[in-house]
Amino acid sequence: SETPASLIMIFGATGDLAKRKLFPSLYNLYQKGKLSENFAVIGTARREWSHETFQSHVYDSIKSAGGENEGIDQFASHFYYQAHDVTDSDSYLGLKKLADQLDKKYELEGNRIFYLSMAPEFFGTIASHLKTDGLTDTKGYKRLIIEKPFGHNYPSAKELNDQLRHSFSEEEIYRIDHYLGKAMVQNIQVIRFANALFEPLWNNRYISNIQITSSEVLGVEERGGYYEKSGALRDMVQNHMIQMAALLAMEPPINLSTEEVRSEKGRALKSLRPVEGDEVEKNFVRGQYGKGTIDGKELPGYREEANVDPASNTETFVAGKLLFDNFRWAGVPFYIRTGKRMSSKDTKIVVQFKDIPMNLYYKAKNELAPNLLVIHIQPDEGITLHLNAKRIGQEMETTPVKLNFSNKGLHGMNTPEAYEKLMYDCMKGDATNFTHWDEVSLSWKFIDNISAVWETKKADDYPNYASGTMGPKASDELLEKDGFFWWPVT
Ligand code: NAD
Repeated sequence: SETPASLIMIFGATGDLAKRKLFPSLYNLYQKGKLSENFAVIGTARREWSHETFQSHVYDSIKSAGGENEGIDQFASHFYYQAHDVTDSDSYLGLKKLADQLDKKYELEGNRIFYLSMAPEFFGTIASHLKTDGLTDTKGYKRLIIEKPFGHNYPSAKELNDQLRHSFSEEEIYRIDHYLGKAMVQNIQVIRFANALFEPLWNNRYISNIQITSSEVLGVEERGGYYEKSGALRDMVQNHMIQMAALLAMEPPINLSTEEVRSEKGRALKSLRPVEGDEVEKNFVRGQYGKGTIDGKELPGYREEANVDPASNTETFVAGKLLFDNFRWAGVPFYIRTGKRMSSKDTKIVVQFKDIPMNLYYKAKNELAPNLLVIHIQPDEGITLHLNAKRIGQEMETTPVKLNFSNKGLHGMNTPEAYEKLMYDCMKGDATNFTHWDEVSLSWKFIDNISAVWETKKADDYPNYASGTMGPKASDELLEKDGFFWWPVT
């Protein structure tokens, strides 16, 4: 159904995220008739742009995202621009005036979304000004969308959250983790809770281990400056990887309300065993890419990239073992791995079931393969179930078969899908697929223990994996120690 009337104010509207994701996503909603005609967007950033310049920027961004482009002019006419200095009250008063005008013109009922798509150091300042300068003083709803990263450790995240809470309540804060907007991540719950086949087996009696991989082929590209301060642990594990693990580990909620789903995820995270001190080296592996060849192209190592310290201690790869200490999962490792410059771009989850008690087909020298449920998140979207069946012929021989369901996702670089869903949800007031403060704080506390060790003890083997490989040897050894290996399945 259609969204309610909304004014969307985008801070950082001349930036990369707005251009590649936010404008195309809003346009797609518009195209599909899901966006109320009663909408307006105010873009703000430092640059002095006119409304017309902004509108043509929006127009171009939609054109370059490809696909349909009917009615773009009409759509773009709802966009307005105001140059803005995030620390200056006068700027906000100007914004308020424009917001009030558009509120009347488009009958927006005072509904306001503030989307902070800017460098994170400004999140707190902007939220404070929104209140003190009267922008949140509106008769409709007010909601704040916050991009990642939400802090760089627990204390900074807490400080940011406290600051936001002066202007917005927890229910009004929508913390983006765009993985939660991905179709197949949302499908984790459906696969689990809508099938008689899986949930009864979804525990330590039948599952031997779960493997979550999110690999990228790209290196750090032009984000060296940012990445040096972040690294894969903070950039990927604290949010996306832990969120996927929580969705796999959580108990069935009593219903699908925001509160119930997020509280179950929070409970799962409370059972996540902390990895501290000496345990860090045993359970977590860090890596940094060196030179290598991908698709016949010679690529530089991380330390040779622009804005990167030639002796950098920043990890571009992390593998780790998560353990949820609860009745359901005691003893089942959840392995995660993520990194840059790996051999393929692939986000997937492999659920490995335990071996059957006895192999009756051993005589026919068949090693039975374990049953696997593979959830493909990107770029492929779908699920594959690996089973054993009888090979055609006289002998009682087994052969692996795969049952495949493909979502036939759009394989392009520019699928704005996740953002489309998330912006729609926010306008509808559904925060289920945004992260609650409890989840953010628990995951930062988990991560901080690991960073504490990695920051005090420099990695002495960097670079420890070549570009175009699946990470350092230690990542394979992490599973080998437990008698497992990373499934190379596709
Ligand atoms: P960007 O650097 O491309 O854009 C930043 C925007 O903020 C620009 O419009 C800039 O003019 C504006 N800005 C910067 N300083 C300002 C100031 N002092 N006053 C007013 N405006 C100012 O950044 P981006 O890539 O669009 O990222 C925005 C946010 O989204 C960041 O939090 C980032 O971590 C997050 N994010 C980006 C991506 C992505 O793909 N680009 C993906 C996930 C999350």
